[in-house]
Amino acid sequence: MKRELNKKGLKATPQRIEIIKFLSSTKSHPSAEDVYKFIKEKFPTISFATVYNTLITLKNTGDIKELSIDPERKRFDMDLTPHDHFFCRKCKRVYDIYDLLRGYKIKIEEIDEHQVEEISLYYTGVCRDCKNKIGKEVTKI
Ligand SMILES: [Zn+2]
Ligand SMILES: [Zn+2]
Repeated sequence: MKRELNKKGLKATPQRIEIIKFLSSTKSHPSAEDVYKFIKEKFPTISFATVYNTLITLKNTGDIKELSIDPERKRFDMDLTPHDHFFCRKCKRVYDIYDLLRGYKIKIEEIDEHQVEEISLYYTGVCRDCKNKIGKEVTKI
């Protein structure tokens, strides 16, 4: 991992390594605030700006993806395999969606003469966990 970071001209600081480790270990699509909260446990002196800048650098080098699915905050994803996202407006969780409407077998490279670099689909609604909870609450009454 150190070598990877050095190749990108990034110093492999323990903080950066920790951020990458955290991102690769979670499927929760954390926000910068979530990453900061987690990293602070290990590095109490780290500033939010350092965490945020690291995330932006990793985004610019193409190592992580930034999602704008959550209207309140940017979320980050280290899973670079093509997939879409479902956002639950109740619990704010972001779920991975594989191979639904997305036609990645059909490669769209150009549309109306614009060059397409990426297609992302965002689904929003109420997730199965929240849906079940609501169902239970209703039957209780
Ligand atoms: Zn939910
Ligand atoms: Zn994802």
